Amino acid sequence: MADIIQLLPDHVANQIAAGEVVQRPASVVKELMENAIDAGGSTVKLIVKDGGKTLIQVIDDGVGMSATDARLSFERHATSKIRKAEDLFNLNTNGFRGEALASIAAIAHVEMQTRTEQDEVASHIRIEGSKIIFQEVAVGPKGTSMMVKNLFFNIPARRNFLKSTQVELRHIIDEFQRVALAHPSIAFHLYNNGSEIFNLPSSNIRQRIVNIFGGKTNEKLVPVQEETQVVTISGFISKPEFAKKSRGEQFFFVNNRFIRSPYLHHAIVAAFDGLIKKESHPGYFLYLTVDPASIDINIHPTKTEIKFDDEHTLYAILRSTVKHSLGQFNVIPALDFEQDQNLETPYDYKNKSAHQPGVIVDAGFNPFKEENWTTGGRPNFQKQSTKGWESLYVGMESQGNKNHEFSSVSFESDTITGSIFDDSKIGVDSVTTTFQLRRKYIVATIKSGMVVIDQSRAHQRVLYEKFLKNITVKGAISQQLLFPLSLTFSKSDRAIIVEIQENLTTIGFVFEAIGEEEITITGVPLSVPESGVSMILEQLISDYQQDFVVDGFSQTDVLSKTLAKSLAVKTGEMLDSESQLALVNDLFACKESQLSPFNKSIYVTITESDIDKKFM
Ligand code: ADP
Ligand code: MG
Repeated sequence: MADIIQLLPDHVANQIAAGEVVQRPASVVKELMENAIDAGGSTVKLIVKDGGKTLIQVIDDGVGMSATDARLSFERHATSKIRKAEDLFNLNTNGFRGEALASIAAIAHVEMQTRTEQDEVASHIRIEGSKIIFQEVAVGPKGTSMMVKNLFFNIPARRNFLKSTQVELRHIIDEFQRVALAHPSIAFHLYNNGSEIFNLPSSNIRQRIVNIFGGKTNEKLVPVQEETQVVTISGFISKPEFAKKSRGEQFFFVNNRFIRSPYLHHAIVAAFDGLIKKESHPGYFLYLTVDPASIDINIHPTKTEIKFDDEHTLYAILRSTVKHSLGQFNVIPALDFEQDQNLETPYDYKNKSAHQPGVIVDAGFNPFKEENWTTGGRPNFQKQSTKGWESLYVGMESQGNKNHEFSSVSFESDTITGSIFDDSKIGVDSVTTTFQLRRKYIVATIKSGMVVIDQSRAHQRVLYEKFLKNITVKGAISQQLLFPLSLTFSKSDRAIIVEIQENLTTIGFVFEAIGEEEITITGVPLSVPESGVSMILEQLISDYQQDFVVDGFSQTDVLSKTLAKSLAVKTGEMLDSESQLALVNDLFACKESQLSPFNKSIYVTITESDIDKKFM
């Protein structure tokens, strides 16, 4: 039998390859836009006609190409982005296969004009079905303009497969948005049939999202931020109440490349579990940065699927990071959204009855008996009821709220927040023994091993949530001072106190009078020592000035943080075992027990198997 194997001519090979790379006009849009970005452009314009069927043009102001490169760029496997296989493991560019232009030129009419900084003239090339029609010099700006006309002109079957102009345009817009979201610092424009659809100035991620999806999006976004050895995560998730019936705004970017990952998507869905209805979909814009060597982008010709070395770890990190952001958002009620604060309180006050105002007097109380007090400025963690502390405090409700019926208020977010942290608790229900390490850490045993807790951060967290809760439910207990305390402040400081007076009152400060410069205080929050009042107020004022507080939300937040910071036990303080135990239990009763109010880790767990490994 005669030999029958032949090498396919280039143009046929290119057409076959094109089938992989170019499914529809949107694929061309993606490849051309990615090339424009790889070329370092600061502005990228996309112009389409008839859903890309008649024209797709991408114009950039990037590095451009020399005359030789311009010609070479249409050859298969022609790329400036990698030279050897190892380069694949350190990729910073969108493209690397050197296939896109060759493929596109095989199945369309392509016209390119390009000029580098150094060259005085531009190159102008026309290619139709892989055949060079002409290459000439031209006058033009630095950068590249790539025009793709009559896609699939030589493959009628493919051309007939294209959907309606509307559908193809929709795909183009999707692709455009993904690229634009991945590169917020680059300006993008999109024109369809002569009219502008998007005009996106160079911006940050949040502004880019808002510019694409509309001004209302801004208030829906909850920031996400996490840095670990494996991955850095940043971006935004949508608040649960804005979850959509249709899948829509769901974006993963890995090293600035849009990717699809059903597996990682599942991690997000899992984090939202219980917060949104089954049939609705959470929105997210998440940017993952990983070591390029730890991923394989090569597995899919259009590169929207990638393979991670350690997908399981990534899944876990992603899920807990998103959960954490949701938790942060729920812990701190949305006071800045013009809503009744009480309606939004996430704390478990639903079942508590209304707090009756009134003074409880303990006839046998001796205020000079030291042990009834907190010792050495250190709060006592014991439950008040066991020590009859109530005698020191005046049950208090703030201004005009005397008849407020807490029990009649529905607390909508209770169920939501209740479910967030349930399974992230580390099983500390059974903590019975603890010990203190170097007056800094508290060590406790848990189901899986042990937990080492930073005492100061833990206490900050406990106090922070307590103060937040007090502010939001307005049921704080005030501790009456034996003698009114007069403090003097500058005019500007005084103005700040007046501004935040309402919140100060809700957490337990009682002002007798606020004069020109003097402020008289008759009551302070529980656990604030009298000697510390002046320092705390000063700290508050300075935190306010620095934090640029503009709304109720940040006001309560700053207030609670300041108090927590000032009052928390410090490193170096010795805690008796009762206090240690109470602190541990209080910590794990918190809505968020992993991070301090200042986003520092509160504890680490060391599992039994961690320890076992050390003995191997
Ligand atoms: P790849 O992007 O995978 O390298 P392409 O076929 O998309 O392959 O492009 C081939 C080469 O052409 C690129 O490596 C690059 O050097 C050059 N090129 C393509 N588009 C542009 C552009 N807009 N500006 C500058 N150079 C470009
Ligand atoms: Mg490319």
